[in-house]
Amino acid sequence: MEHFDVAIIGAGPAGSALARQLSGKMRVVALDKKRQNGSEGFTKPCGGLLAPDAQRAFIRDGITLPVATIANPQIFSVRTIDVAASLTRNYQRSYININRHAFDLWMKSLIPDDVQVYHDSLCRKIWREGDKWHVAFHADGREQRLTARYLVGADGANSLVRRHLYPDHAIRKYVAIQQWFKEQHPVPFYSCIFDNAITDCYSWSISKDGYFIFGGAYPMKDGQARFAALKAKMEAFQFRFGNPLKSEKCTVLFPSRWKDFVCGKDNAFLIGEAAGFISASSLEGISYALDSARLLKNVLLREAGNKNAAWRRATRGLRIKLYGKILKSRVLTCARLRKGIMLGRFAHISVTNSENQRQTEQHPENQRNILTLFWKMFLIRNLHER
Ligand SMILES: Cc1cc2nc3c(=O)[nH]c(=O)nc-3n(C[C@H](O)[C@H](O)[C@H](O)COP(=O)(O)OP(=O)(O)OC[C@H]3O[C@@H](n4cnc5c(N)ncnc54)[C@H](O)[C@@H]3O)c2cc1C
Repeated sequence: MEHFDVAIIGAGPAGSALARQLSGKMRVVALDKKRQNGSEGFTKPCGGLLAPDAQRAFIRDGITLPVATIANPQIFSVRTIDVAASLTRNYQRSYININRHAFDLWMKSLIPDDVQVYHDSLCRKIWREGDKWHVAFHADGREQRLTARYLVGADGANSLVRRHLYPDHAIRKYVAIQQWFKEQHPVPFYSCIFDNAITDCYSWSISKDGYFIFGGAYPMKDGQARFAALKAKMEAFQFRFGNPLKSEKCTVLFPSRWKDFVCGKDNAFLIGEAAGFISASSLEGISYALDSARLLKNVLLREAGNKNAAWRRATRGLRIKLYGKILKSRVLTCARLRKGIMLGRFAHISVTNSENQRQTEQHPENQRNILTLFWKMFLIRNLHER
């Protein structure tokens, strides 16, 4: 049985980034469900928008994005829709529209050869004996085993490592459902849809490479029915669907308390979404996957003594930032507050004609007043909840 310094379960953005950064410094193995190439096998359902914080992580690592990972077109605003209030606003956003599967395969391709990567493999079981972690997995058509000093759970929302370490920990989860359609809208767009009658999270649409992707995060129990109900409502907002070409479904975490962020124990570490590191206000998670990988690399390579304690300290700033997103999501998913913000037209850019000519509306006085009102309501609500 081979022994490693570090066994990484899952090579999404978090696991791939960590494997790359530990290469040459420790003996590392990574297991990943996705194949090495091609579109067959496991693919991660995702909106595929790279937020500025994720772009910043690439700047820090001195990495540039190949065109093969970029999707068409690049869109500079998000159409935000409040269904019940029948309000639509456009907010400027600097996302990069990517092909998520191509991005994941590219991230894996950056892992140097000294790291042993098992593609198209499945980690079935982990357990601890003495000071070693044991991993049982399926790869290359057979059951295999390995041991490692440090175990890293980078295995996403449904993390086997998190479930093993914290069997009683329940984190709020939603089912994310997406359908792909042939794009029929005259002008491609992103949208973010709030409808409290459908979900207390939110829904979205993205135009990508000739497809229109419509999805959302819904309560686990009757997600499919809620998704169908929202689709029917969106026709009134000029959404065009047609026949679905592909349907996808997966779990997405929605951290709602400080203790939803779990870091690991006993020389096992959680990073990325496995640790609950995902924004509750936007479900953006790639930047936290990349940032947590970099932080764990520093802990594993530099910290002497209790590495789990060092890891908790290292992630404190990231967890505080994510807690801020929980507070923000409480505002955004509160129908009354959201309506107030949208009515204030703060930061809204109106589209002046069908050729997509945009004219920025400037109401500085109005914007200042609304902002003050918004913070007052936000503070009162949170103080009230304590
Ligand atoms: C529908 C949807 C849309 C989203 N849109 C965006 C977006 O536009 N922008 C954004 O920044 N974030 C988005 N997110 C969040 C983002 O996808 C995740 O937060 C991010 O992928 C987390 O990265 P990760 O590396 O921690 O985990 P993941 O990307 O989930 O990677 C984990 C990997 O582990 C592997 N794995 C899991 N279990 C095992 C196992 N037992 N054995 C072997 N391998 C295993 C899988 O191959 C998987 O690829 C979205 C999420 C959802 C559900």
